[in-house]
Amino acid sequence: MPRYARVLVDDSAGKAFDYELPEAVAAVLQPGARVRVPVRTRTALATVIELLEETDVPGVKLISEVVSAEPILSPLLLKLGAWISDYYCCSLEAAMKAVLPNVIRKAEVGHQTRLFARLAREVEEEELEKLRKKAPLQAGVIDHLTEAAQPVSVTELAEKCDASHAVVQALVKKGLIVTEAARVERDPFGDESFVHAAPLAMNPEQTAVFEHVRRAIDHPPDAAPKPLLLHGVTGSGKTEIYLQAIQLVLERGQTAIMLVPEISLTPQTVERFKSRFAATRHEVAVLHSHLSEGERHDEWHKIRDGRARIVIGARSAIFAPCANLGLIVVDEEHENTYKQEETPRYHGRDIAVLRASMEKCAILLGSATPSLESFHNAQTGKYELLRLIARVDDKKMPFIRIIDLRMESKKHGAILSERLITAINDRLTKKEQTILFLNRRGFSTSLICEKCGHVCECPNCSVALTFHRAAARMVCHICGYQAVAPQKCPECRDPGIKYTGTGTEKVEDSVSRLFPKAVIKRLDADVMQRREAFRETLTAFRTGKIDILVGTQMIAKGLHFPNVTLVGIINADLGLHLPDFRAGERTFQLLTQVAGRAGRGDVEGEVFVQSFTPFSPSIQHARHHDFDGFWEQEIEFRRQWDYPPFTHLVLIIVRSAHQQRGSFSAETLHRRLKEELPPGVTLSEPAPAPLEKSHGSYRFHLMMRTRSIVRLSRHLRAVLDKLTFPEDVFVTVDVDAYQLL
Ligand code: ADP
Ligand code: ZN
Repeated sequence: MPRYARVLVDDSAGKAFDYELPEAVAAVLQPGARVRVPVRTRTALATVIELLEETDVPGVKLISEVVSAEPILSPLLLKLGAWISDYYCCSLEAAMKAVLPNVIRKAEVGHQTRLFARLAREVEEEELEKLRKKAPLQAGVIDHLTEAAQPVSVTELAEKCDASHAVVQALVKKGLIVTEAARVERDPFGDESFVHAAPLAMNPEQTAVFEHVRRAIDHPPDAAPKPLLLHGVTGSGKTEIYLQAIQLVLERGQTAIMLVPEISLTPQTVERFKSRFAATRHEVAVLHSHLSEGERHDEWHKIRDGRARIVIGARSAIFAPCANLGLIVVDEEHENTYKQEETPRYHGRDIAVLRASMEKCAILLGSATPSLESFHNAQTGKYELLRLIARVDDKKMPFIRIIDLRMESKKHGAILSERLITAINDRLTKKEQTILFLNRRGFSTSLICEKCGHVCECPNCSVALTFHRAAARMVCHICGYQAVAPQKCPECRDPGIKYTGTGTEKVEDSVSRLFPKAVIKRLDADVMQRREAFRETLTAFRTGKIDILVGTQMIAKGLHFPNVTLVGIINADLGLHLPDFRAGERTFQLLTQVAGRAGRGDVEGEVFVQSFTPFSPSIQHARHHDFDGFWEQEIEFRRQWDYPPFTHLVLIIVRSAHQQRGSFSAETLHRRLKEELPPGVTLSEPAPAPLEKSHGSYRFHLMMRTRSIVRLSRHLRAVLDKLTFPEDVFVTVDVDAYQLL
């Protein structure tokens, strides 16, 4: 029998410590259990990671309290945490924070219980008549409970029958009713009802793909099936395949997780899932960042207790405590939002692939524009490639026209080209809808003085401030700094200050001038500050109350509006010129996804792409819906420059409010890393990051590349463990970095 436990103390630096087990729990405690342990003069919460027969640590202390003897983490999730710590070069404690939701870890929020009342026995008609005369309120409660034929909460009795606490107590005293506490669930969708939607009959292409998915789900239990990559054009019926695959998994008595990029942006997907499984006993749990602590707590327990067998959520849902997992789906697997941009900087899709291999379950990655990484894995045979090349019911792919902005006149402030204006006009007459897309919010992107050339910059970051006209303020899009927009140049006092560049607010403004009769709405992060704004606007758009929707990438993702026949991309070049090797890939993906919003109904769609660089490969390949062509060109570029997927890229950022100290620390780190650099690892010279200053800190970059991440991580960790930096210098390590700014 084990006598000791190795535990990981919450909010510690991630080192594990040994404690003695109280005799009473030695037989029942399991790894993954939660305990309270003495740490110096206080006690702290901790997770048991291992049970030991003996320990060589002298004088170990006794565990003070067992918070939950049952593991709140399965051995597999513990292992996943350890893997994240190794791979992403972070402490085990930091990794476990991602694996176990805060609300469960802290154990401060519990289940919610309410008092319910039910009839203790049948009440005779005569007795009831008497009661009606003497105590009508009490009689009302009896009537209500008889009608409900199930326990009713005391709150409801108070609301519906005007029954106070005294009324309920009187009935209890008479022995007519009984009250008892029962657990109630906080359900984020509690006030919505979902009508069951039957599965659709799949077309031959879908059927063929589904056969492969079925085979993966039905694989022999001792081996993990190959991950499946489903490349299906927008509107080809991928989601229908996910739904039916999950149905199959449920029939086999298993559970499923489906990851979506950002749940608040895909309300339609959640609705579709809730409706499809509305008639089954298997609840759909939804995990996302807008849940209250209580809701998150309850959804987690619903999953752990096996009451919810389907989980939909953003990246962290990959750690959902599902038992007997049969399938993981990663929708829009190429999305950057799967990468967590704070420690631990894990990639949800990659963790999904790893968890599936540990669980030996099927995994299906789907996208209309697969990431180069995943497609490369399919090409090299690590994944199995499945394809849907046509839209459902042979709906045509939208026709894409490129507009060369260099040839356009400067009328209308050159925001909308003549041809796009004509096209919008045409849709307005035909009562069809238009989406205008620009991936930049605000009104003008910078304020520049025509006399002295002064540009209004953020005092904390090395970027220009964006002018937001509605709020009459200048805002920093990096740190959120705000200032009143100046009337004169703050430098030379000249009134000739000029607003340049275009944001969504300006697009909205100029479209309103051009089409004064049209109903125009805007959707971007500024509008979204009100939580319901997004859903309200989408509903209004879907029901035809809006003619033109202007927005940022928020409207690019997975939305389905049958009446949208025109999409205008205001400036396709925005992402192309960033100092990032993924710029081309991102532009191709964004254009394809945005274009995919057009022509999803009966009328063919049309897309106008405005660009100053109309011949750039990403734009041209997107125009021809040519993923393969894009892939061939892009993968060659990556191979030549030794970029991912051919190497792993590790970005180290050294930050400090003191420029000198930051720069000096980056150089020291570089020198140490260079000593005994493992073979096959390259290391760049330290340099100021492209975004040199952010939130008041100066930032320096070091880049490492390798084909074998294990050796690199070990070396990096060894160096970082030995080095101490000045107090105000912060070092972050980003393995498989996505944000290179
Ligand atoms: P994707 O996820 O590839 O964008 P969806 O699954 O959302 O595609 O399908 C696009 C539209 O086609 C949806 O409205 C969906 O209900 C419909 N659809 C999908 N499969 C079928 C089918 N087999 N028969 C009829 N309609 C279908
Ligand atoms: Zn700033």
